[in-house]
Amino acid sequence: MQKFVEAGRAQFDFLYKNNIKPMSLWASGGSDIPRGHVFNPHEIVFFLLDKARNANVRIVPSVRAVEIELSPVSQKMTVTLEYLGQRLEVRTAVTVLASGGFANNRKMLQEYLNDLENIQVFSGNGNTGDGHKIGLELGGQLIDTEFIKPSYGFIKNAADPNDFTMIFYGGAVILNQDGHRFVNESISYKDIGLIALQQTNGRSFIVFDENIRIRQLESRPPEAKLWENLNKHSSYVFFADTIAEAARRAGLHPINTEKTIRDYNEMVEKGEGLPFGRKSLSGGFGKPVKIERPPFYVMPASSGIMGTYCGLKVNDKTQLLRSDGQIIPNVLAAGEIMGGVHGENFTPGCGFGKALAFGRVAGETAYSLIQP
Ligand SMILES: Cc1cc2nc3c(=O)[nH]c(=O)nc-3n(C[C@H](O)[C@H](O)[C@H](O)COP(=O)(O)OP(=O)(O)OC[C@H]3O[C@@H](n4cnc5c(N)ncnc54)[C@H](O)[C@@H]3O)c2cc1C
Repeated sequence: MQKFVEAGRAQFDFLYKNNIKPMSLWASGGSDIPRGHVFNPHEIVFFLLDKARNANVRIVPSVRAVEIELSPVSQKMTVTLEYLGQRLEVRTAVTVLASGGFANNRKMLQEYLNDLENIQVFSGNGNTGDGHKIGLELGGQLIDTEFIKPSYGFIKNAADPNDFTMIFYGGAVILNQDGHRFVNESISYKDIGLIALQQTNGRSFIVFDENIRIRQLESRPPEAKLWENLNKHSSYVFFADTIAEAARRAGLHPINTEKTIRDYNEMVEKGEGLPFGRKSLSGGFGKPVKIERPPFYVMPASSGIMGTYCGLKVNDKTQLLRSDGQIIPNVLAAGEIMGGVHGENFTPGCGFGKALAFGRVAGETAYSLIQP
């Protein structure tokens, strides 16, 4: 974890110096103060791609690594690749496994997660666990598999990874189809994801008002797609001038919903402790707010997998480790493929942040290993 903080900071400074700056700062799940630096990820990826190309790094898309053979004598590697229907072998001094997670490998996912029928997967198509398989064949170890959880906040039948909101950290509440709250909305969205799946028919709804919508737009610009240009054709969220009417349109019990919000507002006003232990907007930060200014919004929500959060065991130089702790020579793993970083709960930003930070560390380690 110390390494993550140090390397994350170094990457932040590097990006900042190159004029890649965060769009906003906010407190997301698990943050007791605003420390979530919201970047445009496309900007970072294109910047790094340019840097690599300018340094004469050759990037060949559509190549699939399938196997690594490690010579016990020379410790040099032969990597088998598939490219345009052909198999090729390349010799490498160091290999970095960076194939992301395995959320799109249903068979692997089923080994570690129940209730998969109600969970959509939003990870990249290439996240099929190839690197995990290669690492395991070399004697590596998969750790933290107990921490795979779906994230809460997708719209119903989401088609796009951007159909996702964390507006409950801006003050929205989450109700089941009977119109009752059932969870502390300030906890990690991964924990909310599991609890929401246990509600009747696996259904739940995010309820908020105009004030919360506007604040969310200001604090989390990536959610503009959902919250900026709402109109009556917006099929993923229902709104009306009264809570009961918005609830009715969304298929949520209108009378119970109205009472739930009335009671919630009264408790917020009095500064009383809220049921299910909500004391803050998010992870200890910010005071809960009343839901009081029309229009009122009700969004049927679902849970989805955005990453596998577990992975191959490595040391703080990203060197792949056997279960006995021995280093597997010259094989590194960086990014989502690594385990041992998130622990039980995922703090938003630590997925992309982990790839940025440990990508840097892997580069430094690879360089040190090939020095004569
Ligand atoms: C919808 C969504 C929203 C997210 N939101 C956030 C967020 O707000 N904050 C955050 O921190 N994180 C977020 N994440 C997680 C974050 O995007 C990932 O953790 C991060 O991009 C992982 O980077 P990576 O380089 O390790 O893997 P990836 O970006 O998955 O890249 C791995 C690459 O390896 C390729 N590959 C796979 N197998 C092979 C093979 N055999 N040979 C060659 N190439 C292969 C894949 O095709 C892919 O291109 C989100 C993820 C999703 C899906």
